[in-house]
This record gives sequence, structure tokens and C-alpha cells, in this order.
Amino acid sequence: MIDSKSQLIDRYGRKVTYVRMSITDRCDFRCVYCMDEEMTFMPREQLLTLEEVAFLLRAFCELGVENIRITGGEPLVRRNVDWLFEQVGKLKQTTSLKELNITTNGSQLVKYAQGMKDEGVDRINISLDSLKPERFKELTRTGELNNVLAGIQAAKDAGFEKIKLNAVIMKGRNDDEIVDLAHFAIENGLDISYIEEMPLGQVSHEREESYCSSDEVLAALNNTLELASSDMTTGGPSRYYTVKGSKSKIGFISPHSHNFCESCNRVRVTTEGRLLLCLGQEHSVDLRAIIRAHPNNIDRLKQAIIDSMKIKPEGHDFNIKEQPVIFRHMSVTGG
Ligand code: SAM
Ligand code: SF4
Repeated sequence: MIDSKSQLIDRYGRKVTYVRMSITDRCDFRCVYCMDEEMTFMPREQLLTLEEVAFLLRAFCELGVENIRITGGEPLVRRNVDWLFEQVGKLKQTTSLKELNITTNGSQLVKYAQGMKDEGVDRINISLDSLKPERFKELTRTGELNNVLAGIQAAKDAGFEKIKLNAVIMKGRNDDEIVDLAHFAIENGLDISYIEEMPLGQVSHEREESYCSSDEVLAALNNTLELASSDMTTGGPSRYYTVKGSKSKIGFISPHSHNFCESCNRVRVTTEGRLLLCLGQEHSVDLRAIIRAHPNNIDRLKQAIIDSMKIKPEGHDFNIKEQPVIFRHMSVTGG
């Protein structure tokens, strides 16, 4: 029996307390930086079942994990996702789990927000790259801005206090909306993070041409807002700024310009149950094989997770000039 005080500590002394779990590679959007127009999705039998996901997350939470983020693909298009929220939400009473969070494109929030709140979801991150309906459609290829705005309102109405917008800024595509997006966040009492585009998977544009650094975004914001850097952390890679006269925080996720590896506290599990020790490297362990070979043997699974700490790499080495650096799309990995 594995000691309940066991923890996940890697070779560099970093404690892993955060798991991002991708529960589907499918999505109702096809964002230009995330997916190709034509995508081949994984056969369903390769996906972890939701029961397997719940079992896996229990193992992590019994090994000291405090924060779980459910993501995808679009997690809210997975059937019975509310069952999963309920199961994982309950782990807060019996394990080290403190927060259950989700990243979504917002399209299904009108339907799910209240249930998610009741099932124990703590925080929601919602992607929003444009406030112009036509451009929103262009960037997401299929998305309707109005659905997402209604979804954001539904999340507020359901009582979620910690809502954060995520915006990937691309040169010539939406970099003229950097300030408008910040104002939208401030007016709605939300936080916002700006994300540098990462070279994950083949897409139909040259990433080097669309790349917009966090420093450029910050410079645009500094022209109109009074920002002060903050030492606030969510345990993740974001650097945060406060805005004078507002409670909203502005964050930057800058894998290229500000490497965040030395304080990395996280691992990811892909849709098919591959434990990825680093977003930008291929070091991984096939947890699905272990779960299916030894059903219900949680100690066996926990030992595999503990052993995986030996192969967590020191850091990633993204290079925007090479395309693609990592062949998996973000939707498989879980962004
Ligand atoms: N579908 C959900 C959504 O869009 O929020 C969750 C999954 S999505 C992969 C998670 C986050 O990754 C989103 O904020 C998205 O903007 C971001 N993302 C996707 N591909 C990216 C890329 N190549 N570079 C940077 N961010 C990316
Ligand atoms: Fe779907 Fe999210 Fe990828 Fe957009 S970023 S295609 S919403 S998974």
C-alpha cells in the first residue's frame, strides 16, 4: 500500500501539485492557432472513459495533487461531463485536492454553468480572442461570439467569482483588440491572460509571422492602462499585473519570451491517458495501458505516477521558427 503522505517530487526538486486533464480532443470550434481546418479525431475506444479519468484523478489527488484543470479539446462537448465534475468535486473532501477548474471556449456554458457550480467546479477560464462577431468566426472558423458572451454571463450568474479570459494574440489577426479585450474584462469584473502562440501541431499559417510577444502586448496596454506588476501567482506560468482603479488582473503566459520551467509544478494527461511530463517535450508514460492491464489497482497506478517523476525534463525548448516543433495539437495535449 502506498503511503498516503507520498508526494510527487521530480529530480530537480519541483513538487508536482497540478494536473491538467484533457478529456476529449474534439471541439465545436476550429481555432486557427489550435487546429487545422480538417482534423482527424481519435477513435473513441482510444479515449479514456470518464470512469478511467475519475480513477486516474483520484490517484493523483491521493499523491498530493491540489489543483486539477479539466480541459480538451472542448471539455463541455464530452457526454456526461457533469458526472465527472461531481466525482472529482467530491475528492476535495477526502484528498489533498483544493481546486477543480476548467478551461472552455464558453460555447456550452449557458447549458452547463449552474450545474458546474453545484458540482464543485471552482474556477472557469474562457477563451476569447475577439469581440467582433465576424472576426470571431474567422479565428474560430465555426464559433458564434454571441453564444460565448452569453456563456460568460451565465457563468457570472451562476456565482463563479474567479472567471478568467484567455486570449491568444496574433499579429495582423487580432493584435488591434488587445486593449478592447482588457476593457471588456475590466468592465465585467474578470481577469484576462494573454497567451503567446505556441508551435503545437500543424496549422495552416506560418506561426513565425503571426507570433506576437507578451512584451508587445504589454506595451500596447501600457499606452492606455496604468499597470503595476504583481507577485500574485496561481502556481502556474502566468505573470500578473494589477490595473489601477480595477480589481481585474492581467496575466501573461509567455513560453517563448519568459521561460517558466524552473517553477513548473504541473503535468498533463492527454485524451488517451498519456502522462506528459512537459508541454514542450515528448517524455511520457502510458497510464491507460496500466489502468487497462490492472483494473482497479490504484497502488499500481500510483507507483507508475511516482516513477514518472524521474523523467520530468528540466524544461522545454520551443522555437517559433521551426514548424511544428511538437506534432501534437494543443487539443490533444490539453491546453
Ligand atoms: N477548448 C477550450 C478553450 O479553447 O479554452 C480548452 C482547450 S484549449 C486547447 C486551451 C487554451 O489553449 C485556449 O485558451 C487556447 O486559446 C489555447 N491554445 C490552443 N492552441 C494554442 C497554441 N498553439 N498556442 C497558444 N495557445 C493555444
Ligand atoms: Fe477548440 Fe479550444 Fe482548440 Fe479553439 S482552442 S479549437 S476552442 S480546443
